[in-house]
Amino acid sequence: MPGEDAATSAVETARAQLERTLEYVDVADGIVEELLEPHEVHRVSVPLDRDGNGREVFVGYRAQHNNVRGPYKGGLRYQSEVDADECIGLSMWMTWKCAVMDLPFGGGKGGVAVDPSELSEDEVERLTRRFAEEVHEFVGPMRDVVAPDMGTDAQTMSWFMDAYSKAENETLPGVATGKPPVLGGSYGRAEAPGRSVATVAREAFDYLDRDVEDATVAVQGFGSVGSNAADLLDEWGADVVAVSGADGGVYAEGGLDLEAVREAGDADGLVSAYDGADARIDNADLLALDVDLLVPAAVGNALTAENADDVRADVIVEGANGPTTIEADDVFAERGIPVLPDVLANAGGVTVSYFEWLQDINRRSWSRERVRDELDDEMTDAWTDVVDAYEEHGDATWREAAQVVALRRVADAHDARGF
Ligand code: NAD
Repeated sequence: MPGEDAATSAVETARAQLERTLEYVDVADGIVEELLEPHEVHRVSVPLDRDGNGREVFVGYRAQHNNVRGPYKGGLRYQSEVDADECIGLSMWMTWKCAVMDLPFGGGKGGVAVDPSELSEDEVERLTRRFAEEVHEFVGPMRDVVAPDMGTDAQTMSWFMDAYSKAENETLPGVATGKPPVLGGSYGRAEAPGRSVATVAREAFDYLDRDVEDATVAVQGFGSVGSNAADLLDEWGADVVAVSGADGGVYAEGGLDLEAVREAGDADGLVSAYDGADARIDNADLLALDVDLLVPAAVGNALTAENADDVRADVIVEGANGPTTIEADDVFAERGIPVLPDVLANAGGVTVSYFEWLQDINRRSWSRERVRDELDDEMTDAWTDVVDAYEEHGDATWREAAQVVALRRVADAHDARGF
């Protein structure tokens, strides 16, 4: 189960990864110091009147890591474990993700330390509106653009956009992405991170002279990212033999009927109610399955020093943010298991968020086909850049190669702006 390297916070992992990348890129010390820290971290109190149950005060955060290439950009998480260090680490990854995709955004991340499943829908709405008011002066379409992440969705983004727009006395859909199309949301946004995971898997298998169509696949996390990645891989002919949620997983040797798993589960990506599988498995079993492709798409720190030696997959493509600890990365490098990193693999989400932001600014919507085509182009361009860096530095891992591409772009932008 995740959390075994609980001592490794997202910010520690992100800083250690940056330090490793410096072996390959010559960056001025002042810029490195700046990149190791966020520009700002906002911590706000979010009081909530419970439904007839008095008042409770939650803590919200918005970490703004770097905006040298454009407005801060990143998700909002509603989860009990949200804290400043997690938001800072995730905002650093957003800086690299936007840069590796060459998007004109920097890195931000935020959220509220709350378990949304314990709130009514009305309470989530009030919490979101109050959080939007509290961070109002730090965000905006040209300042910091929020998006859905764990525990938030298109409805949350609609409330956030509405509260912000009311405070500004203008309709400003560009403050949030991942909205429904009726509010300026983009077709294809929800499926995008999963699509990019599948696309990177396809390219990586191709690079390794293998066909993803023939692959067996295990996916940890059957939520937004995991289920969309599984669907596309399945559509291409791969056998998705196992998926899991927080309640454990299901396994079928010949491949699962993903639609039936989804129907048996629920909106939280739980799967164990599905009774058509060969076996029920737990998350530890799933990570150790002998498959061609493993996609950790649930939570951070899923692959740790404790379980990395148990992994029998040939290739890992990261769907979640930060699913692999630094120690586990070392084990995979030693064992020759390629790990295609989150900042590239799940970057379809922020890429279609960028498309959405463009559509909002232009007040003109794109078709789903256009979104899919342009996403595929952006992903294959980024893949080519990462392959070039990987081949240029013979001993670099895929994560280091992706970070080299990103760090060069961010450092060059710092140089050009003369900070
Ligand atoms: P989600 O809430 O839709 O799905 C999460 C899935 O993980 C569910 O199946 C849930 O049951 C499962 N899960 C939760 N806790 C678990 C645990 N302890 N062990 C095993 N499974 C567990 O979330 P999502 O949007 O798919 O996000 C998943 C990951 O992908 C996160 O790391 C998120 O930051 C990252 N991500 C999301 C997006 C996006 O736009 N949704 C984009 C890029 C990256």
